[in-house]
Amino acid sequence: MRIAVCPGSFDPVTNGHIDIFERASNMYDLVIVAVFHNPNKKPLFSMEERVELLSISTKHIPNIQIDSFSGLLNDYVRQKNTNIIVRGLRALSDFEYEFQRALLIKKVDPVIETVFMMTSSEYSFLSSSGIKELAKFGGPIKGLVPECVEQRIGQRMLDY
Ligand code: ADP
Repeated sequence: MRIAVCPGSFDPVTNGHIDIFERASNMYDLVIVAVFHNPNKKPLFSMEERVELLSISTKHIPNIQIDSFSGLLNDYVRQKNTNIIVRGLRALSDFEYEFQRALLIKKVDPVIETVFMMTSSEYSFLSSSGIKELAKFGGPIKGLVPECVEQRIGQRMLDY
């Protein structure tokens, strides 16, 4: 069974992420989306909420599991009995960060492979931070995020 782990903050999940999950689910038997705890970031949505929003918005994908973790990604990937990480890649700006990260993970555990999937052109400009910025000022986010995110983000933004 070929298993891919898609790690990320997903704060919140966007249609750009969903597009990557859908495409990865056509390539692997099982896609595990893992929300990770980043101690450097103050999230808008709690870990539990991010998991819930991901679960609701990926209901149409049969071979997907949503999970969360804190700790080292390579340990997590091993625990899931795989060696494959899938990451989405947008513009040049993602490249530097992703390149360093993938090489660092490989240095720690050479068996692990990071596979990059190019963003679909219609989502190339889309990021969780961009969505938060738009939402903060009441900008239109329809069509950029799953409906459940659209419904909840306004309320969430009030206490952020
Ligand atoms: P992180 O905090 O690890 O960067 P994110 O939740 O921002 O986590 O992103 C998770 C993954 O999804 C990353 O590989 C990121 O490059 C990718 N990604 C984010 N937005 C898009 C998009 N619009 N199209 C394709 N991939 C994306």
